[in-house]
Amino acid sequence: MQQRSIPSATPREDAYEQERMENVRPAAWRNPKPAGRYDLVVVGGGPAGLVSARAAASMGRKVALVERALLGGSCLNVGCIPSKAIIRTSRLYAEMRNAEHYGAQVPADIRVDFPLLMQRMRRIRARVSRVDSVQGLSAAGVDVFLGEAHFTAGDALSVDGTKLLFRKAVVATGARPDTPSIPGLVEAGYLTNENVFDLSELPRRLLVIGGGPLGCELAQAFCRFGARTSIAQSLPLFLPKEERDAAQLLSDAFARDGIDVRLNTEVVRVRTEGGQKLVDLVSDDYQSTVTVDAILTGTGRLPNVERLNVDAAGVDCDATTGIRIDDFLRSTNPRIYAAGDACLEHKFTHAADASAHIAVHNALSLGHRRLSALTIPWCTYTDPEIAHVGLYVREARDRDIPVRTFTIPMHDVDRAIADGEETGFVKIHVKERTDRILGATIVARHAGELINEITLAMVARIGLKTLARVIHACPTQAEAIKKAADAYVRSLTKPTIESS
Ligand SMILES: Cc1cc2nc3c(=O)[nH]c(=O)nc-3n(C[C@H](O)[C@H](O)[C@H](O)COP(=O)(O)OP(=O)(O)OC[C@H]3O[C@@H](n4cnc5c(N)ncnc54)[C@H](O)[C@@H]3O)c2cc1C
Repeated sequence: MQQRSIPSATPREDAYEQERMENVRPAAWRNPKPAGRYDLVVVGGGPAGLVSARAAASMGRKVALVERALLGGSCLNVGCIPSKAIIRTSRLYAEMRNAEHYGAQVPADIRVDFPLLMQRMRRIRARVSRVDSVQGLSAAGVDVFLGEAHFTAGDALSVDGTKLLFRKAVVATGARPDTPSIPGLVEAGYLTNENVFDLSELPRRLLVIGGGPLGCELAQAFCRFGARTSIAQSLPLFLPKEERDAAQLLSDAFARDGIDVRLNTEVVRVRTEGGQKLVDLVSDDYQSTVTVDAILTGTGRLPNVERLNVDAAGVDCDATTGIRIDDFLRSTNPRIYAAGDACLEHKFTHAADASAHIAVHNALSLGHRRLSALTIPWCTYTDPEIAHVGLYVREARDRDIPVRTFTIPMHDVDRAIADGEETGFVKIHVKERTDRILGATIVARHAGELINEITLAMVARIGLKTLARVIHACPTQAEAIKKAADAYVRSLTKPTIESS
């Protein structure tokens, strides 16, 4: 990766950081002597690698795990945990500014204490790091090697010169930010998720490039901290995978927050003048320039496969999609499996975790669990959150599956009204003439919590009719799901109403 200079994005060295480092990369750690041929060697100590190693060790197997940087991987160190910690504080600031709406008074000049909220984030990250510690993993019976691994043969790899032999291996090397090739960007300096959580000062003006989950979450958070934030997205809507009405609600929410939304916009050049970054944008032949103090890129993630020397192991991989796997997570070398961001389209911690269980089971127990059998929900933690599971309507149509959709707006849900959280909807798709749930999209303040009920129903094959019989505590926002199920039941007798 190219070097960047971000003067104010230097890792802190406070007690919280010391605790995290002591857990995820202790300075005094000495790698063990390799213990002959391992039943399983895991490359990468993020969520996929940790789950793989612990699962194999709990089966009584001889296991080694290699990590080149920090145990916990992206999720703990530069992903889910720090982002969700600062998002929580950003919500608090948004609520404080909106206090009158809730019948409360706060001083007019709410001051954002950026160093303090970043300290809170570091405290939380340090706490969570306790479960991902080198010592804990070692105590679970895993030989932990800190260093970079590359394959030297179909059953061997090297960790900084130390040879590890394996019967089976799991590649769980994760992913890194994909930097857009914009002239002048590297020279001007930019932030990614790998250093944005090291900022000690809030940039006064920020441009976020990319309207996927990462860009959207952080743009909203930084805007709520008081940064004058623009977000440039080359496509006509944010979160291009999500349903259009969901993405539209997000654009509206961004506009309400005061984010300068630039859809259909390409970033064509970055220049530096007097310490400021001048970014040229083109939108439908209209050119404009935004002047900012910092640029954050969130334009996708690339699998970490380039330094693995996979050719030596007979493993096929692609620089964009990662390790080539079959439905059993096996690579083109039957000894070697992959899990997590290194091979999956859906780059989420829970997907990494679930895929690791499959990989280990199939590798060590000669099992035949399939990746395609998983039902994987996801959520973008903006405000409102946007969560999804299963099929989108367009996917069902592509597969010639007739769909019926039941939609409940959150403004029809008592608890959402009481909470002042009326933006959004619960939308559940069933296969026509059945109550079988094909998928759902939820836009709501707590959509990430609500989607789990639908996921449970889908995995357990519980139909919408049964969900109508489930008593939901009142008042809760999850009653939106019950209302959608009730609408389904009513549609059995009045087939022309309630559905969309
Ligand atoms: C800002 C951000 C926010 C996110 N928020 C969420 C969220 O809210 N929910 C969610 O589900 N997901 C979220 N994600 C995604 C989540 O972090 C990843 O999907 C998850 O970390 C993937 O786990 P993994 O184990 O596959 O890879 P990683 O976590 O990337 O771990 C891979 C590890 O392998 C190591 N490694 C790589 N190559 C080698 C090598 N050759 N030798 C030794 N070690 C090596 C790396 O150092 C790394 O520690 C977020 C990601 C980002 C960037």
